[in-house]
Amino acid sequence: MKDYLGKNTPKLGFGLMRLPTIPGGTDQDIDLEKVKQMVDLFLERGYTYFDTAYLYHGGKSEEALREAVVKRYPRDKFTVTDKMPLWDIKGEADYERIFQTQLQRTGLEYFDYYFLHGIGESQLELIDKTGGWDYMKKLKERGLVKHIGFSFHSPAACLDKILTAHPETELVQLQINYADWESEKVQARLCYETAMKHNVPVTIMEPVRGGALASMHPDAAKILKDYAPDASLASWAIRFCASLDGLITILSGMTTLEQVDDNTKTMKDVKPLTDEEREVIAKALKVIDSIPVIPCTGCKYCITNCPQHIPTPAIIEQMNEYTKYQNLTGAARTYGMITMMGGKASSCVDCKSCEEHCPQHLEITSILKQAAELFEKKA
Ligand code: SF4
Ligand code: SF4
Repeated sequence: MKDYLGKNTPKLGFGLMRLPTIPGGTDQDIDLEKVKQMVDLFLERGYTYFDTAYLYHGGKSEEALREAVVKRYPRDKFTVTDKMPLWDIKGEADYERIFQTQLQRTGLEYFDYYFLHGIGESQLELIDKTGGWDYMKKLKERGLVKHIGFSFHSPAACLDKILTAHPETELVQLQINYADWESEKVQARLCYETAMKHNVPVTIMEPVRGGALASMHPDAAKILKDYAPDASLASWAIRFCASLDGLITILSGMTTLEQVDDNTKTMKDVKPLTDEEREVIAKALKVIDSIPVIPCTGCKYCITNCPQHIPTPAIIEQMNEYTKYQNLTGAARTYGMITMMGGKASSCVDCKSCEEHCPQHLEITSILKQAAELFEKKA
């Protein structure tokens, strides 16, 4: 891509979804003083892009943005992305109600970028029925947002379908990192190539895979550390993304001042990965792939008759993530989200109906006990 929207945007963005919280507090008890320090360092080093959403920290992320950024810096020193939560949309009027709440929470008069949040095949009918696409275009006409797009978590074929039907899309936010690049589920490479085919620039989310690529199984980490002892594990992940063309920015959901320091340093004069470095990453991935995990196929037969509605396959997926990447905080966070609607692992009543139906003959009740021990204590 030659000239495109966001070409000159500094290539590190501050994702405001994992902000530091007060010890002993909930996800909504954001430590504002720490956030201010992180914001100050981020802006001082020449970065400008902030990314929030209605959902993050139960709405407190938008308020933290107001307190740490909007009230303390001139409007031309930063850009903001916010997102419309489709799961709260029942009818057309909900779009405006939510949007006005977002302006109020953030203290902004307009957003630089505005997205439909996390769309995929299952939301398309709802968006069409409730006039979501038209609402986005009208926001732009009203001067309340400068550019419109969406964040996306589905297969590339669906992205192709949406971008074909909605050429008004100016940018997309995609999950891209080296571990998901060839993943059948995430399809990072295919999604990226689809966006490029439509000449739509990309903002990258989860470049460090929710922190997983900054922790990693020690055997895999050793390969990267042996090659470049002074480079942080996260810097490999950030550089992988920075090597791609057509980028607006790379978001990092930063929690500590040290992460802001490390990421901003990595991005200063960032160098694309060499072929040799790509081979080193491939070796590390090979090690990760060879780590034995629970052989769940995701068939979901275990869920059908579970009286506690426990999302066992998704819980096992997080157990496996933890085994491979040793990122307990990230896996426990995802565990918290997936068990918000269904039952927690600790709610299992040991009826063993799931084990009778599991074609892999997994000892599900024992796995759930381990999951409860690991993730619920951490939460
Ligand atoms: S043993 Fe536990 S997880 Fe399995 S079906 Fe019964 S309640 Fe659900
Ligand atoms: S039935 Fe067994 S293999 Fe299938 S999703 Fe459940 S735990 Fe995994």
